[in-house]
Amino acid sequence: MSWWQLDSTLKEQAEYASYYRSMPPVACPHDGEPLRLGPPQNPAVLFCPWGDFQYPRDWDPDVHSGM
Ligand SMILES: [Zn+2]
Repeated sequence: MSWWQLDSTLKEQAEYASYYRSMPPVACPHDGEPLRLGPPQNPAVLFCPWGDFQYPRDWDPDVHSGM
């Protein structure tokens, strides 16, 4: 592997990382339950029906994005 290849691989990984960090979660990171859309008065909220996770309140990209 050349330095040029290594450089492009690192740039590609950084792109993937920022992409996944910008995506809202689809499932609760604690129990894997699909997140439900928030109430009509606050549709930007996603929440776990078990009450242990709410997006974006409990969302930490460093912990939950898998990066
Ligand atoms: Zn949950």
